[in-house]
Formats: sequence, structure tokens, C-alpha cells
Amino acid sequence: MSPWKRLNQELGFGGEEKPFIPRETNFLIVGGGLVGMSLAYWLKAYSNKYSGQSKVVVVERDPSYTRASSVLSCGGLRHQFSLAENIQLSMYTTEFLQEIKEHLSILGENDPPDVQFNHQGYLFLEGPEKAEKLAKMVDMQNQMGAKIRLLTKSQLKEKFPWINLENVEVGSYGIQGEGWFDPYLFLRCLYQKNLALGIDIVHGELDRFEFQPGPLGKDRLSGAYIKTNDGQEHGIKSTLVFNCAGSWAREIAMKANLCSKDCSDFAVQPRKRYVYTFHCPDGPGIESPFFVDTTGVYFRREGLGGNYICGASPSKDYEPPSDDLSVDYKFFEE
Ligand SMILES: Cc1cc2nc3c(=O)[nH]c(=O)nc-3n(C[C@H](O)[C@H](O)[C@H](O)COP(=O)(O)OP(=O)(O)OC[C@H]3O[C@@H](n4cnc5c(N)ncnc54)[C@H](O)[C@@H]3O)c2cc1C
Repeated sequence: MSPWKRLNQELGFGGEEKPFIPRETNFLIVGGGLVGMSLAYWLKAYSNKYSGQSKVVVVERDPSYTRASSVLSCGGLRHQFSLAENIQLSMYTTEFLQEIKEHLSILGENDPPDVQFNHQGYLFLEGPEKAEKLAKMVDMQNQMGAKIRLLTKSQLKEKFPWINLENVEVGSYGIQGEGWFDPYLFLRCLYQKNLALGIDIVHGELDRFEFQPGPLGKDRLSGAYIKTNDGQEHGIKSTLVFNCAGSWAREIAMKANLCSKDCSDFAVQPRKRYVYTFHCPDGPGIESPFFVDTTGVYFRREGLGGNYICGASPSKDYEPPSDDLSVDYKFFEE
């Protein structure tokens, strides 16, 4: 597009309103789910504080987030992990949610909207063969500052009399900091705050990258091309690009020449998971933890009307194809 046409477009002259897409930025983030939006927030917040007004652009192709994991997820926040980094990240998320007003308020009063955080621990159950392993893990989690209680079978029976404890030896229960929230509301809060901070959120698809000759004969990434809904392609210069495309991260990595062939060894791979809703008016109700049994089947309360959501990870030999979001209802019955 000619520079003159482009200037007119950016200034909004010449008829219909056109999206403003900057021509260059310090940080370009591909994917505006929870990972991309929180990264944008922190980059902007830190640059405002220390280095002075770096430009941050987020490219998101689906502003209604119909397929983003962030809004399709269960919104669970747990501190019970086996990896130290995951525990630290999650403990910080609890802190962030406790201070959400400081972080995400825009106008002050009644703002940001309530993300519907439910304070309820996760409850993991294990049989005799994995009891020792669970006890060690709880020890490690508590040493890192998490508040997890190891419960014997009789303690489980007392606290959760509705659980069938056949083949169960021990349970680990989060007594502080764990729970679940509405991930869509959380994403909207971050989105609005990022707009208020001056982050450019571009609705378009990252189509391809631009490269320039770099040192030692290796090409260096110098920018990207974004396709908007009207079919236009917009170039944007940035040497720092963050791949926050979730299930599509592999495709972005391929476009950036970061891996060979089909990128099947790339660290982030798509996995399809089903979440089902069921109604159980006589269920455990408000005292219900985020329950995970010895087989990995989980459920949690959804509101206070006797509704629950549940799911399970499929076995290794049944990994459903992730190219569409259709639900296998037989998996629930099994
Ligand atoms: C069923 C389910 C339940 C889950 N439950 C939990 C839970 O309880 N607790 C928990 O911690 N985690 C849970 N997770 C995992 C969690 O949801 C994800 O780890 C997290 O949401 C990933 O966020 P993201 O921003 O990386 O990805 P996403 O939210 O998927 O965002 C990626 C974005 O990138 C955009 N994008 C992709 N390609 C392009 C492109 N070329 N150009 C522009 N934009 C692009 C997409 O449109 C999308 O909006 C669950 C996941 C699933 C599927």
C-alpha cells in the first residue's frame, strides 16, 4: 500500500473506520489469550516504570476468543504441582488476584469487575502405592510456601463423608490460596487494562515474518505481516516477538523458522480435552473442593445451583485429534 494511502487509513480519512496498526513496536506479542495479555501487561508496566514507554503490540485473530484455551478452561488455580516453577507461578497468581484492584483497576470504584474467585482447595486422592510419593510432594510444596495438608483415610472420611474411599489411602488438600475463577472475566479485565495502558491490540492474524540478513550469514527476524479481516496485509517492524499462540504456537514457530519440518518436537503441542457439565442437586455443594480422584477424573462446583463441571485426561493410546472442538460424549459415559 502506498505511504499516502496508509497515512489516510491510519488517520481514518476516506470513509469507513480502519483499524490502527502501528508500523513498528518494541515488543510484538502473537496471541491475546491469558498468556499474551498478561505478558503485555507486565512488559508495559515494567517499561513505564524503568525504561520509559516501550511500545507493546498484541495481535489476536479472534476477538471473541471462541477457540482460545483461556476461556474454554476450568479456571482452576492450584499450588499442587511437582515442578517448583509451576508452584511459584501459581502462588504468584493467587497474590495477583488478591491485589487485582491495584493491578487492573482503571476507573477506581467497583473496578475491575469481580472475576468470581471461589476460595476452595484442590483435593487429590491417591491409593497405597502412590501414597509415599504424594506425601513427598506435599512436603516440597509446603517448603515452598504453599499451604497443603496431607489427609489420612480417616481424616478424609471425617472431612468429606460423601467420598467413596475404596482404594484410597491418602489425600492432599489445599487449605489456602487455591480455587477457581471465571477465566473469561479475568481475560476481559486484562484486555481493558492493557487498552488503558496504551497497548495496541490488533485484531488480525499473524501471517508471516519478515527476515533480514544477520551476522554469520544467518537471517534475523525483523518484523511481521498481519492480515486483517478486510484482507489487507500490514507490515510491522519488531525484533522482539513473543509466541503466545497457545495451541497454535507450533505454527508460529514454523513461520519463524525455529524448528525443522512439522515442529513435532516443539515444546508446546495442542491437546484436546473435553469438559462436561452435570446437575447433581444433592451433591457436596458449597464445601466441594476441586476434586481429583486416583484415576485423574476431576470435578468442581459451577455456581451454587447444584451444577458441576468435570473431565479427565485421555489415556496415552487415545489422544483425540485437535483440529476441531467437537465433543465425544461417549468419553463421559466410559
Ligand atoms: C479444557 C481445558 C481446561 C483447562 N483447565 C485449566 C485449569 O483449570 N487451570 C489452568 O491453570 N489451566 C487450565 N487449562 C490450560 C489453560 O487454559 C492454558 O494453559 C492457557 O489458557 C493457555 O493460554 P494461552 O494464552 O497460551 O492460549 P490461548 O488462550 O489459546 O490463546 C492463544 C491465542 O492465540 C491466538 N492466535 C493463534 N494463532 C494466531 C495467529 N497466527 N495470529 C493471531 N492470533 C493467533 C488465538 O486466537 C488465541 O486467542 C485448561 C485447558 C483446557 C483446554
